[in-house]
Amino acid sequence: MLYKRSSELFREAQNVIPGGVNSPVRAFNAVGGTPIFAKSAKGAYVYDEDGNRFIDYINSWGPMLLGHAFPPVVDAVIERTKQGTSFGMPTALETEIAKLAVSMVPNVDKIRFVNSGTEACMSAVRLARGFTKKDKIIKFAGCYHGHSDSFLIAAGSGAVTFGTPNSPGVTQGTAKDTLLATYNDLENVKELVGANKNQIAAIIIEPVAGNMGCIPPKEGFLEGLRTICDANDILLIFDEVMTGFRLANGGVQELKNVDADIVCFGKVVGGGLPVGAFAARNEIMSHLAPEGPVYQAGTLSGNPLAMAAGLAMLKSIKTDKGLMNRLDEKTKYLHNGIADALDRNGVVYTINRIGSMISVHFAKDEVVDFESAAKGNNETFKKFFHGMLEKGIYIAPSAFETWFVTDALTYEDLNETIAAVDEIAKEL
Ligand SMILES: *Cc1c(COP(=O)(O)O)cnc(C)c1O
Repeated sequence: MLYKRSSELFREAQNVIPGGVNSPVRAFNAVGGTPIFAKSAKGAYVYDEDGNRFIDYINSWGPMLLGHAFPPVVDAVIERTKQGTSFGMPTALETEIAKLAVSMVPNVDKIRFVNSGTEACMSAVRLARGFTKKDKIIKFAGCYHGHSDSFLIAAGSGAVTFGTPNSPGVTQGTAKDTLLATYNDLENVKELVGANKNQIAAIIIEPVAGNMGCIPPKEGFLEGLRTICDANDILLIFDEVMTGFRLANGGVQELKNVDADIVCFGKVVGGGLPVGAFAARNEIMSHLAPEGPVYQAGTLSGNPLAMAAGLAMLKSIKTDKGLMNRLDEKTKYLHNGIADALDRNGVVYTINRIGSMISVHFAKDEVVDFESAAKGNNETFKKFFHGMLEKGIYIAPSAFETWFVTDALTYEDLNETIAAVDEIAKEL
């Protein structure tokens, strides 16, 4: 394939945008090469500036659960646009989507809309601190909760007592309030909680991890966190920015039947427009301004175009009773096909899958946490990524990302993907 126009555009972009991109993973740094500039997308396909067509497994990193340019979302946005794009006043639309979202998600009474997943997680932590009157939080290595300071933390030398910043610009003062735990390791969490008695406001987790590849929670892990939180007056925050309205209408809370105290959303909830949200029961949400003292605000929060897109998306998900099952079947088919192709060619791999999330790791052992995910062979992944791209299959340009299966994918698309894996596997 030729990427002439993309190369030119990338060169031009680098002069005026740091690294040529507005979000780092788009720059292909982990895999090398020139990022592809998107021109348009429809259904399961994305088209680049050179006229190449790709079967898309990134799907804007999650939102496009029902495919690109999904007509009900597109129509809703166009119609709303004609009535004005922002008011800074409440609208009926906000109540309508809030009612729908609250009806779909277990265990929440109220929801607040924001503009990104980052904002949702940042605000959820502030609310948890305001509610519990405690400062520290526990997060898990390899889980991503957006780019706010409290989450950009690596394990420090004294990991049981405090973390250290993993980006310049994050202060030691902020880092000391974030403790880092190991995913799927309850003993580790108990140890952290024991060493920080009465100081922990919240445990925040991707209840199915999607930012170190796809890593489902082990049997009993989420239940164990729930028990630890209840015993220590800690709030359990499920960051369902990736999994919300995707793995079930009610997200992982519904799928695994475990209640969180605060739930964060993004991605699917905005149908491809910039939306995040966080929700909880009344007792907690009443602490939020203007009802309570915990401040949180946004000029464009609840923006009518974004809410129209989100509402159309959620309605489509709620009314399509067969959707989650179809997504699951398609992803299972893809899983089996890829596994057979890799087996046939003697490639060492581990595939993780849950619902419409799947990740292929070039590692022989189980992938259950960040450490085991990091054992994947990155050189093999790079070859695999560029091989797939050359065959018109667009997967995320990093071994630590999940593939998102959309309902717009046909079995023909899946077969084309599997055939591409079969070809590429010969070279790995
Ligand atoms: C994408 C993501 C975020 C951040 O959302 P943005 O909209 O990119 O700020 C937070 N948490 C999880 C689990 C995510 O996947």
